[in-house]
Amino acid sequence: MSNKSGKLFVISGPSGAGKGTLREHALDNIENLVYSISCTTRKPRDGEIDGVQYRFISHEKFKEDIEKNLFLEYAHVHADFYGTLKADVIKELNAGKNVLLEIDVQGALQVREKISDAILIFIAPPSLEELEKRLRDRHTETEENLNLRLSNAKKELELKDKYDYVIINDDLETASKELRDLILKFDK
Ligand code: 5GP
Repeated sequence: MSNKSGKLFVISGPSGAGKGTLREHALDNIENLVYSISCTTRKPRDGEIDGVQYRFISHEKFKEDIEKNLFLEYAHVHADFYGTLKADVIKELNAGKNVLLEIDVQGALQVREKISDAILIFIAPPSLEELEKRLRDRHTETEENLNLRLSNAKKELELKDKYDYVIINDDLETASKELRDLILKFDK
């Protein structure tokens, strides 16, 4: 076990900006980087497995965990609650692992308050038009949910200046390399 604590990396960005894919690339290609699986009250999508993409929990359990102060951060995103368990992150950091969170902007700003040396990275789409196209092509959302995601995207983009780094995901390979280089730069 390393006696040096790991670093916490936070990626955020609008739904459809490609965070999920970039996260997968980072986790597959960077040694010593682990992902912290969030809790959510949202229902699993087709193919999602409890404990893999998320821990899918009830509203009641989520509220209990808030009251027990178990979350490093949590937020109400779109129409559900999402949160990161404090104990998971601290355990990995103390074991010398670098930890990656993929969370929304409200959550990222809470992390910054609590862990001041966390590295905040915003993943932006090349344009709002492209974002809408990607969300439509995904066919995972209802029209109502899609509109909600688009209006949230506009608000999130306004907060990107609060992040340490902004990566524009126009070309996946380029963005993926940028993210990898950035994480490796801090892994010294
Ligand atoms: P989705 O429902 O598409 O999986 O995720 C919706 C949004 O919730 C994404 O912007 C994602 O980054 C955010 N999210 C996922 N997990 C967490 C979390 O633990 N905390 C916060 N604050 N946001 C999260």
